Amino acid sequence: MATTDDPVTLLILGASGDLTQRLLLPGLGSLLHIEPDRKVELFGVGRTGLDDAEWHRRIRTAFQETGVTKRRTDQVVKSARWLTADATQGDHLKWLLEQCSDGPVVIYFALPPAVSIKICALLEKLDVPADLRLALEKPFGEDEKSARALNAQLHRVVAEDQIFRIDHFMGTATVLNLVGLRFANRVMGPIWSSEHIERVEILYDEALALEGRAGYYDTAGALRDMLQSHLLQVMSIFAMEPIAQLHPQELADLKAQVLRATHLWQDSPKRATRRARYTAGTLDGKKIPSYVDEEGVDPKNGTETLAQVKLEVRNSRWSGVPITLRSGKALGAARKQIVCYFRPVDHVPEGFNGDAQADRLVINLKPGAVSLELTMNAEGDPLGLEQKVLNADLTAARMQAYGEVLRDILDGNPLLSVRADAAELGWHIMDPVLKAWAKDRVPLEDYAAGSAGPENWLPSDSVVG
Ligand code: NDP
Repeated sequence: MATTDDPVTLLILGASGDLTQRLLLPGLGSLLHIEPDRKVELFGVGRTGLDDAEWHRRIRTAFQETGVTKRRTDQVVKSARWLTADATQGDHLKWLLEQCSDGPVVIYFALPPAVSIKICALLEKLDVPADLRLALEKPFGEDEKSARALNAQLHRVVAEDQIFRIDHFMGTATVLNLVGLRFANRVMGPIWSSEHIERVEILYDEALALEGRAGYYDTAGALRDMLQSHLLQVMSIFAMEPIAQLHPQELADLKAQVLRATHLWQDSPKRATRRARYTAGTLDGKKIPSYVDEEGVDPKNGTETLAQVKLEVRNSRWSGVPITLRSGKALGAARKQIVCYFRPVDHVPEGFNGDAQADRLVINLKPGAVSLELTMNAEGDPLGLEQKVLNADLTAARMQAYGEVLRDILDGNPLLSVRADAAELGWHIMDPVLKAWAKDRVPLEDYAAGSAGPENWLPSDSVVG
């Protein structure tokens, strides 16, 4: 019989891979630095011939920069095991589950998505621990239909609150900061609607090119990789109705409510969307080849490296406000922010010189910061008008994004997880775009690596630090 003092077994399938070494293990280290009393048994699983010694070395390396003490690292390593197995084989999977202690068991699928689905189908036939939690990385399906099928498959193994669909954007302190910014003061709440907000941009521009990720990226592209998942999740928190408590079900309900009301601008993939692909250029002084010449890229896939989609949340709060999501690679400047443009004032008192520029709120996702740009008196000229910036720095995150993600999984708290309906709704919104793009109804434009993207795209007038 499991007790609350039992350690949580974290069984990472595909633990020899990049996600585990680069994000999961450092994330766990940063969590144990802040919360050293957590009891975790860390089992790495893979087909390749790693052994306990190598697994322990990898844990130590990943923990090194996280601040976790040597004593705590030693304790984790002492109970950590490497299990060589192919989890796609029923008897191996059964053996893996037998290795787990009493108490909660988390299966973390750090595997290619098709492999994870195969293993879920096998789990259905096995006797699984009562407190089994499944942690999955996106993509959650390839379209609405496959997302539904995946959810049905998962629900045949465990209940929804035992499924953790990971969106590490939801782990970033900044997204939680968005809730605080909107609902923990008297100022933002009353102006958070179409009455005061004219348009919104949610940008995730990367100043990095492909960086050897063709295997995954060339079949996904910017829309699937970023907009359909992370940026829609961010948008749903930006636009949701007031939340009374940070309760998983309440947050998921409010997010789903937004996504259900979300439509392409004018219901037209042609008018609401744009796509482009980078050509050769220079980024940070380094020559970047054209996307189609990057190693592993198949030009026939027609993969976009920059995507822009204009949406409308059709409810009484937001109707008529364009909300544009944009993300891409190899852009001249990294801009990861929500930019909220306020409507101009109806009247500036006569006697002032000049026009009042529209006010803006810029919420920087990475690094965390909020700045409010307000028109007020010019410095040294009280009758002049000038835009002043009020800044709040939110850089200091408590722990890495994957630390926050893992904390909730280990606690069995799905607050930051993407609920089944949100995963399906994301595809429901974007499926028509993918179909229109597959039929070439929207041209695939070009932009030089290191540029700001094709002309006349976003960011409209925003030049934000
Ligand atoms: P990898 O491609 O590095 O694969 C992880 C491991 O999966 C491999 O080391 C391999 O381990 C195992 N594996 C591969 N193919 C099979 C197979 N056919 N059957 C059984 N095992 C297999 O993936 P990543 O670590 O990069 O990513 C894992 C997941 O996380 C993916 O779903 C990805 O989309 C997602 N993700 C990754 C991010 C990243 O930065 N890497 C970021 C966010 C999400 P072995 O050979 O030892 O069995």
